[in-house]
Amino acid sequence: MKKKVLLHTCCAPCTTQVYIDLVSAGLEVAGFFYNPNIYPKEEYQKRKEGMDLYCAKTGLPMIYIENDLDYKPGECNLCYKMRLIRTAQFAKSRGFDGFTTTLLISPYQQHDLIKDLGGEIAKMAGIEFLYIDFRPNYFKGRELAKTYNLYSQKYCGCSASIKTRGGKK
Ligand code: SF4
Repeated sequence: MKKKVLLHTCCAPCTTQVYIDLVSAGLEVAGFFYNPNIYPKEEYQKRKEGMDLYCAKTGLPMIYIENDLDYKPGECNLCYKMRLIRTAQFAKSRGFDGFTTTLLISPYQQHDLIKDLGGEIAKMAGIEFLYIDFRPNYFKGRELAKTYNLYSQKYCGCSASIKTRGGKK
């Protein structure tokens, strides 16, 4: 039987190649869109619609969790944590074998921090964190995003990152 993995998805463009890599590795994948960091609401909506479009085209099942936290912009450590904790908890409660995140494909994110947090959260939640360095395929993913005509954001997500273009995609 295939191993089931819950994939935290930060946006559609980063999901494209990661999904291919996971399926190629023989995994069954479901997406988990939980990103209370995205500001403002209009931007959140655009990214969500981009994900809807991508899922309609590829058949990737996606679970959407509405924003339910009072989020503080600019604190990447907490921002990664809140998203990974929720993903791990959901994965555990629904019988997945493990979880991972599309944040691991971006050369603009703090890769080692995400890797470490994923490992710690996995231990706490009692479920495997599938660490894969997807970054070598980052530009393949950007090309796929153009092919699918997906919305591509210009900043990471929070209000602080609008000014700095932090984690630009
Ligand atoms: S820059 Fe990105 S990762 Fe850091 S706090 Fe803002 S939205 Fe989160």
